[in-house]
Amino acid sequence: MARVALLAAGVDGLYFLFFLAVGSPWLAWINVVSVAMYAMAYRLARRQKLHGAALLIWLEAFPHAAIGTLMTGWESGFHYLLLMFIPSVILTNSRRKARAFVVALLVFLGALDFLARDLGPLAPLSASALTALKWLNITIFVTMFSSLASYYRQKIFQAERSLHAQATQDALTGLYNRRYFQQMAEQELGRCRRTGSSASLLIMDIDFFKTINDTYGHETGDLVLISIARSLKQGSREMDTLARWGGEEFVLLMPGIDAAEALAVAERFRQVVERTPVIFSAGEILCTLSFGVTQLLAGETLSVAVGRADRALYRSKLDGKNRVSIE
Ligand code: GH3
Ligand code: MG
Ligand code: MG
Repeated sequence: MARVALLAAGVDGLYFLFFLAVGSPWLAWINVVSVAMYAMAYRLARRQKLHGAALLIWLEAFPHAAIGTLMTGWESGFHYLLLMFIPSVILTNSRRKARAFVVALLVFLGALDFLARDLGPLAPLSASALTALKWLNITIFVTMFSSLASYYRQKIFQAERSLHAQATQDALTGLYNRRYFQQMAEQELGRCRRTGSSASLLIMDIDFFKTINDTYGHETGDLVLISIARSLKQGSREMDTLARWGGEEFVLLMPGIDAAEALAVAERFRQVVERTPVIFSAGEILCTLSFGVTQLLAGETLSVAVGRADRALYRSKLDGKNRVSIE
């Protein structure tokens, strides 16, 4: 909103210079009032008083277009500028209000056209000045409409990115969620089947996590999840898919990695987590992870592979936790 006000003030500054140049000082001075109104709208917008700023913009733009048209005639093209309100009204209001606005705009433009023809230009310009003014208005309209369109395009892309993140990521840790992981893993299984390449899967579970929650509180438990997720992310490759599988469990899919290499990766992660304290307001906690490792077999389903990794993880827990098992 602040940017729009600033831009509009600049445009009215341009009109001021234009009318001075074509020898119509009265028309030039009207624009000083407009610049002052946009400056006020800018200040309001900067203070987040958006309703006030929007009201000032409307109060400037419609009378300005009407006065400009009545003074210099319909040919001057001042009415083009009002068309810029259409996308913003449609995008920010209910359909009923937007429809009412479109009808009101049509009536306004019709009445203005009728009056302008009936009265004739009240402050006529020379033919060349009128043509120059028309093209100035068309240029302003096209330029501002294009920047408005690219602003909305950017907003749509931002919304798309945010929706994609919500659909694929876990909100707490920022890692991928279980559903996205399943999609990726199914694709990887397909690739293993087609190319015969290897891929491995790690399932990791934080040891004694319930005790951490019970001792330090749920918020600190969350910090532990975030911190371990960060360590795992830092230790994995760009091509790996790391996800939060559930509560305090993580999964890692590693394309191109066989069982022996996956064991080494798991052991490296185990040592990193064991040595990295999670720092929180009241101190620090050392946590450990238990691991289940498996290599994906061509032709099997994801749930079969996950079942195997889960059994390996269960063995790690039974054998005393903070260890790596493979099946
Ligand atoms: P083990 O060593 O055998 O893995 O035991 P554990 O205590 O780690 O596992 P258990 O399954 O008994 O408890 C997991 C706990 O994780 C219980 C649940 O409340 C907690 N939890 C699950 N999701 C979250 C979360 O998002 N934040 C926090 N702070 N705790 C969570
Ligand atoms: Mg668990
Ligand atoms: Mg656990």
